[in-house]
Amino acid sequence: MGVRLPTGVGLPSTEYMIDILKPARYINSEWNAVHKEWDQSALKIALAFPDVYEIGMSHLGMRILYGILNKEKDVICERAFTPWPDMEKRLRDKKENLSSLESGRALKEFDIVGFSLQYEMNYPDVLNILDLGGVSLYSRDRQEGEPIVIAGGPCAFNPEPLADFVDAFVIGEAEEAILEIVSAAKGEGLGVNCRREAVLKKLSKIQGVYVPDHVIARPKAEAISEIASFPGVARNDMIVSKRIIKDLDNSFFPTDIIVPYIQIIHDRIGIEIMRGCPHQCKFCQACKIFHPLRIRSVKRIMEIAEESVKNTGYEELSLLSLSSGDYPHIEELAWKLEEKFKPLGVKVSLPSLRVGSFEERGGMDTLKRAGLTFAPEAGSERLRHALNKNIQDSEILEKSRAALNAGWKKVKLYFMIGLPGETGEDLDAITNLAGKIKNVNLSVSPFIPKPHSDFEREGMEGMEILKEKQKRLSSRLQAKGSRIKANFHSPETARIEGALARGDKNTARVILKAWEKGLRLQAWTEHFNYNLWEQAFQETGIDPENYLKKKEAGEILPWGFIV
Ligand code: SF4
Repeated sequence: MGVRLPTGVGLPSTEYMIDILKPARYINSEWNAVHKEWDQSALKIALAFPDVYEIGMSHLGMRILYGILNKEKDVICERAFTPWPDMEKRLRDKKENLSSLESGRALKEFDIVGFSLQYEMNYPDVLNILDLGGVSLYSRDRQEGEPIVIAGGPCAFNPEPLADFVDAFVIGEAEEAILEIVSAAKGEGLGVNCRREAVLKKLSKIQGVYVPDHVIARPKAEAISEIASFPGVARNDMIVSKRIIKDLDNSFFPTDIIVPYIQIIHDRIGIEIMRGCPHQCKFCQACKIFHPLRIRSVKRIMEIAEESVKNTGYEELSLLSLSSGDYPHIEELAWKLEEKFKPLGVKVSLPSLRVGSFEERGGMDTLKRAGLTFAPEAGSERLRHALNKNIQDSEILEKSRAALNAGWKKVKLYFMIGLPGETGEDLDAITNLAGKIKNVNLSVSPFIPKPHSDFEREGMEGMEILKEKQKRLSSRLQAKGSRIKANFHSPETARIEGALARGDKNTARVILKAWEKGLRLQAWTEHFNYNLWEQAFQETGIDPENYLKKKEAGEILPWGFIV
């Protein structure tokens, strides 16, 4: 396959892309992509997503930041993604840098490279993007003229594993802090004469920004226990508090998102209707980091929906939030969407928990009847109650029945195993519940005690026990016939994810070693290599078990200074 690239695209020196899988990942000029004059901008920012184009382009945070930054007249914001291994090989063979899609400039030419950290398994890709982009890996090695590397997203709530490689972390909702960062960078002449130190010092004073090398009177996490009893050091000095959008309704929301040439994971308009979650499930990290609950009004959602359909031509929209079934005006919103979009043929995805009631009332024509998903997380109501996940079996069974009777094809149930307090009966309750639904698939993942969740001090179940539990579920499902399909997530991947999520500054050595060993795209089953991860831990002398074991009350947590 040879693909000739249009002029002025992301990789200008690569005239032909021969034998490159999905070359549309690397070209630009998609509908709504923003192109600005390079020389006329005071600040150039590359948003880098440490996974492939199809994943990064689906991410709401990228869409929001791209929109906010490009609305600024003198700021350029462009995109870069992890290349697939074939493209990485090509770049390395030709000694070319990874560049942004819009201008085709190497990442090292930007003033700021901003990473979105959504998943710990992407950490080696952060290093890979920096290296391919021509940026020094370690913050301490970066010279004047090199970009400031900033990272945000859920994983930044434990920044220490990447602290050696990232100049500044934004904790919390980056759209709240991004223009303060821009103004600090411009004010210190970044982009004109690149005063790195001055910019970093200024960034460290912005609420929600953690600059590991400029912790002014703020002790390193490892030292908190000593400092805590040290008179004269204010407790506040040790804390980085997250940023949050206070008024969701009036916050920026992009209505002219980029429409890719190839299918991406969420190839539709996604409208965030609510941020935060009214529930507080004990295993849940998201409800803590996106706390408090904020609601977008029906009026604003309708405006966003209408503008987005007009600006993109998409014929499908979905409502996004952690728990859309709890959106207080869902009935009103659903019928307004039906009224507006039925004549236009636009399909709407509604939260699974509410689908049954719409179908019972005759159904909506705009309703996208894809899969119905429920996340009971634990098999028994007893364990669910202990987790604070208060969803009843009867509710799941009734909603599933109503939807399946109305023509829906499948129900998908999400469970975790290895939860604190789990017994054999709780496991058996998973297959019992599934057995009561006509068309059902299961997704079963090992529980990982994530930082900031109520279970952050719990230990993670050992791999052998997790495998035993999977076997038990599997054989019970087989006994029920082949009707129920189950997808068991790998305990090996979960173990590495857990160790990285709960890591500290030493974890940086493991991440570097993993990258040196060639580990890339570790969120992809076909690329995940447990043996190489094991070697990376062994060769750096770090035992992952130290991160995965139970943490005693009073033990210092590496992420304890983030609130
Ligand atoms: S698991 Fe879901 S319902 Fe529970 S707190 Fe988290 S986001 Fe909310």
